[in-house]
Amino acid sequence: MVEFDHIGPEKIVEVYDPKTGMHGFTVVDNTALGPAKGGIRMTPTVSIEEVSKLARAMTWKCAIADLPFGGGKSGIVANPREISSEKKQQIVAAFAKGIKIISPEHYIAAPDMNMGEEEMRTFSKANGSLQSVTGKPIDMCDSDGRSCGLPHELGSTGYGVYQSIVVAAKHIGLDLKGSTFAIEGFGNVGTFAAKFLTEHGAKLVAASDSKGCIYNPKGLNFEKLLKVKEETRAVTNYTDGTKLKLGELFTISMDILVPAALPDVINKHNYEDVNVKIISEGANIPIAPWIEKKLHEKGILIVPDIVANAGGVISSYAEYIKKDEKYMFNLIKEKVTKNAKIVLDHAKQQKIDPREAAMQIAEERVKNAMKKKGMI
Ligand code: NAD
Repeated sequence: MVEFDHIGPEKIVEVYDPKTGMHGFTVVDNTALGPAKGGIRMTPTVSIEEVSKLARAMTWKCAIADLPFGGGKSGIVANPREISSEKKQQIVAAFAKGIKIISPEHYIAAPDMNMGEEEMRTFSKANGSLQSVTGKPIDMCDSDGRSCGLPHELGSTGYGVYQSIVVAAKHIGLDLKGSTFAIEGFGNVGTFAAKFLTEHGAKLVAASDSKGCIYNPKGLNFEKLLKVKEETRAVTNYTDGTKLKLGELFTISMDILVPAALPDVINKHNYEDVNVKIISEGANIPIAPWIEKKLHEKGILIVPDIVANAGGVISSYAEYIKKDEKYMFNLIKEKVTKNAKIVLDHAKQQKIDPREAAMQIAEERVKNAMKKKGMI
């Protein structure tokens, strides 16, 4: 059952196309701040309930990122492993046509699970508007040839994670130069966060992917590790380090930890072993809020996901307003720095943990916008 409350959802659109078998839905949670923004996920089990929860998370994320976007999300029920890539594009096109009644006016799409830049190209073409979707390929430009796609592969989210760490380090008086850090999930978000951290003098001591973890307290060479990962698809093939079991990464004593892969990785079984100064959440919900509170009580500063990994949605906004890569990176720096500082300062003043602080600020921003629009 979808839960309706004082925030939303405002609209739920469910579409079906007998010709392709496409079945999908979009939940527009709240548009007080602007059109609802959120990705499309394609899985065999996706449901309106799941999508409505993710749409609400987008309402908070856009509000805390201080963007003129509301929250939304879409789901397409299909198993991408069981259909040809041609069929996949046909389904995406049928979905885009189906939800044209709300997009781009009330909803702007983006990639989520099993969706990439080519699907976003298809969506945009079928919708007929470049502004109906972000995360398009870089070669997909306006007729003026200047405003083009800004795919996530540019590293926007990892860059935002890095900026959030700069703020957190200042907040606790930690010098990033010479500090030690680890990355759980050496993928898109994790590698870019590691790249910017190492470029600014921090030392990567451990990194993991789905196959295992590599650790060297003296430091791993980022460029070499990236090459190993790209060539062999496993960080554990890096030779100058010790192989650890996946969960062991969370027991290493160091300054900064970036969970950038899966949800719930720090949980009731391992949170007592975590011994770091800062956690910046690259992944979505890597730690349940009640565990975050426990870590906060232990003195660990956590930059919650809705603040730390907002780089992706800020990049989407830059693309939406037809700006280029340089503008996008500057905007991420400006917004993540400002919002992370507001959240961490508010948490300190109110003696609450940063997630609670972020939620208070996000709710206030949404409620104020709803009041202004006469929605409450
Ligand atoms: P990705 O697929 O590029 O990378 C994920 C990495 O995690 C891969 O290297 C994979 O091998 C690794 N991994 C998988 N299982 C693991 C395990 N058990 N232990 C350690 N590593 C494991 O994905 P991504 O785009 O980097 O996204 C990572 C997380 O960040 C996801 O939770 C995603 O929702 C979130 N996120 C991503 C973006 C974005 O712009 N890409 C934006 C916001 C949030």
